[in-house]
Amino acid sequence: MFLLGLDGLDGNLAKLLKLKHLTQEHNGSLQVPLDPIYGLPSSPTVWASFLTGKVTFQHWVDPTPSVAKQFIAISKFVKWKVFKGKMRLPSRFTPRRIAKQLGHACNVKKWPKLTESTFVDHPNVSEINSVYYSYRGDAFLHLTTLSLGDMRCALKHKYERDKTIILKASGQPRGKAIFAYIHFPDAFQHVWWTHPHQVYQHYVNLNMFVGQLQEAVEDEVFIIVSDHGFNVETGLHSLKGFYSSNVPLNPEPVSITDFHSLVLEHVN
Ligand SMILES: [Zn+2]
Repeated sequence: MFLLGLDGLDGNLAKLLKLKHLTQEHNGSLQVPLDPIYGLPSSPTVWASFLTGKVTFQHWVDPTPSVAKQFIAISKFVKWKVFKGKMRLPSRFTPRRIAKQLGHACNVKKWPKLTESTFVDHPNVSEINSVYYSYRGDAFLHLTTLSLGDMRCALKHKYERDKTIILKASGQPRGKAIFAYIHFPDAFQHVWWTHPHQVYQHYVNLNMFVGQLQEAVEDEVFIIVSDHGFNVETGLHSLKGFYSSNVPLNPEPVSITDFHSLVLEHVN
């Protein structure tokens, strides 16, 4: 079994673009926990819930009052806009500003330590570049000090490097189940969402990468999981996760926490 975590992959967009490696034969949306502070799914919380099978709130950074306040303001504002049916953001919400604010929140110094055990801890499971394990968020370290252009450039490099790491490692024997993770398309979407064409191109590239990976692992079960989607109108996370698989999964996952037992049943 090969599980690929694609951070922020929007299932609806993948379907709209008819990307068959991303959407595979079977797919569906996933319930994910919403961060109590931001009111949106936040990656450390959702991936922790995926790995442990339990909802366990985790944050990249301490929710200091100023960061929390910014997010409450943004999410309230966006909800109000959606309610009013007006999705355009006013000019003070420039891409640079939003990227900066999200950069503050996504400024990955270190993923927090998990206290609960995860399916990766099982001796028959291994990981590649997985959050909470070997993932290195160093490209995000000084994100907020960069210009938008430099940030985009740094993320492009990170994307290429992470793809190579995963492709290389996927060919080696690694137990009955493997979890590989890449911080895309999320990171790309955060800095390019005002240029939808660039985002679409990125999805096409991701689809090609996944096709290569599917060929490389030749595994009978290939599962893609995403922790949330992305709203290209607002530049913020959308509320549902997504999964796809090349075989029907039984039971069909409806929540991000369902994969924990699915993996353990497969490897035991
Ligand atoms: Zn994000």
